[in-house]
Parts: sequence; C-alpha cells; structure tokens
Amino acid sequence: MSDAGPEVPPLAMDALPLGRWSVPRDAERRTDQDLIATLRTDAATRVVLVSGGRLAGAHDRLRLVSPADLGLTNAAEGDPGTPLEWFYLGRDEESSYLALALPPEAGGVPIAAVGTPDERISADERVHAPTHGDAQWVSLRESGHLMSARDAGLATTAVALAAWRHRHRFCPRCGAATHLSEAGWSATCTVDGSVHYPRTDPAVIMAIHDHEDRLLLARSSAWPENRRSVLAGFVESGEGLESAVRREVAEEVQLEVGRVQYAGAQPWPFPGSLMVAFHGWLVPGGEAAPVPDGVEITHAEFFTRDELARAVTTGEIGVPMRTSIARALIESWYGGDLPEPA
Ligand SMILES: [Zn+2]
Repeated sequence: MSDAGPEVPPLAMDALPLGRWSVPRDAERRTDQDLIATLRTDAATRVVLVSGGRLAGAHDRLRLVSPADLGLTNAAEGDPGTPLEWFYLGRDEESSYLALALPPEAGGVPIAAVGTPDERISADERVHAPTHGDAQWVSLRESGHLMSARDAGLATTAVALAAWRHRHRFCPRCGAATHLSEAGWSATCTVDGSVHYPRTDPAVIMAIHDHEDRLLLARSSAWPENRRSVLAGFVESGEGLESAVRREVAEEVQLEVGRVQYAGAQPWPFPGSLMVAFHGWLVPGGEAAPVPDGVEITHAEFFTRDELARAVTTGEIGVPMRTSIARALIESWYGGDLPEPA
C-alpha cells in the first residue's frame, strides 16, 4: 500500500497567498519593553489597523498609516472598556510595522457591524485615519491573494494576533485578566505572572486521489448546496498529521487512505488555524466509493479533470476562494487555473 500513486510536486509558495511574507519579524526586539511606545513616536512607523478578519485598506492593498495620523486621544486609549492593543509585526529597510487591534466599539464606531468590504468606517474624532482617501475595511479572506507579499504577510499576522487576543483575554491557570507582553507576542497574567503565547491550531486538508487519479470533492453540511471542496479537519490531541488525514477521511466518507504525501501549508487565521495540506491515495484493492457520513458531509464524489471543468463552468458546483489552500490543492491536481463559471 505504500507505493500507490505518483509523486506530485509541492504547492508553489505563490499559490498560498496567506503564507507569503517579506518583512523580517525581528523577534529579538520584542523583549524591549519600550518598543511599542518608541515606535509610536517614530514617523517612519507604519500601522496596520485590524478589526476581526478585516483590515483598513483598499481591495488589493493595506492602508498603512503613521501613528500620528491615527489621531488617537487619551480618551480612546484610557477607556478600560475598550483598550487599544498593539502588536509589533517586524521591520524592513523602510519602516517598522505595528498592528493596532480595534475593539468592536473603538472610539464609539461600531466596527464589528461593518458588514461588507466596501463600507467605510464612520467618521470619528478618535480613530479617524481609515476614512481618509479610498481606504475601506477589506476582508483578508477575500482580498489576501490580491495583495503584495508584504501586505499579505503583515495582514495575516495582524489578523492572527488580533484573533488570538480577542479569544484569550484571561489566564487559563487562574482566570484573572492578562495584559499583552513581548510587544504583543505573549500575554501575562496580572495575578500569577504566568505567560501565555498565541495559539495556532493545526488542521489537515487533503486531496484524496482514487486509482484513476480522480479527485474527491465533498460538500460540508454547513455549505451552500452547490459548494464542493476537498476534505479537511482539525488535528486531535495526541495525533500526528498523517494519522489525522486517514482518520478524517475514514470518518467522513468511509474510505481507507494508504500513502500520504505532504503538499504545503498556510496560516488561516479565522480565527486560528494552520492548514496543512496533503495528497492521499486510496489503498489498492480497498473500497473506492465514498459514503458521506450524513452529518458533517452530505455529498462526496470523485471527479475527473474534464468533469470538474465542466461542473465549474456550468455553475453546477462552486469551488473554494482563491485565498484558500483548498483552491491551491485542487488546482495543483487539475494542472492549472480552474475555468471561470460561464
Ligand atoms: Zn493567572
């Protein structure tokens, strides 16, 4: 069973939009306790504004602002109900980069209520910079692949750190409040001093090939009727990656996977995943017809390349968005860009 299936090349880095990065993270500076304060007075510093999975920007780029342009006042910073939290992202030859996580009610602006990428932030006397020019809130999910490597890397890390902090505000040991430390890369308990680091939860995502080199696509019960993608699932405690691939496929469609080959990985900070992609091949002589579990998966079938192209072109099925590693895996098997719907 170990030699079934051909070798396939790894996913190209430019096929993994959220895995790109060009700004050195400069981790050694994080221990400088004055770093954030110093950089906030440096006119060369650039700030990434983040709220949930959205960023101040235009559809294909971030809107980076200098700290002075933010117009922050003591009122905005001193309100214990809506503390502004900063993260140091790194520096290149031009600038040091900070992320500022705006809470939902920052400055009285209901940022969490901003629903579409092209809605502008309401004018506000305290957090007003994003209303300048053509800046909007943009979705990293929808726009990450359009951004430069620099912007995609800054944006992905900003969204990841902000999402971690939003979900982990209290000490897991004693329940007390924590405050950010190490320039936003850890949180320290205000009572027992324990230090806690950003969480990343590994998930496997897998292109399963049958003996005719067809690709397994499935529909999750949570998705629109025509949507299809490759299978995926979280890695469980005490489990290795390849084991997770085989377990998920067995649970969701009752197929036995033999050989598993690593394909690539990218962060997916919605809110905290690392998507680790694999190719997997059915064991020779085993069951070859998928049986959806009916709970997580409602449809599952193998496609030839021609069948997939036809189904996508006619709109019979919809495939994952371009920022996703799922799309990269499918197109890697397909051998190029999938056709657009007619
Ligand atoms: Zn504690």
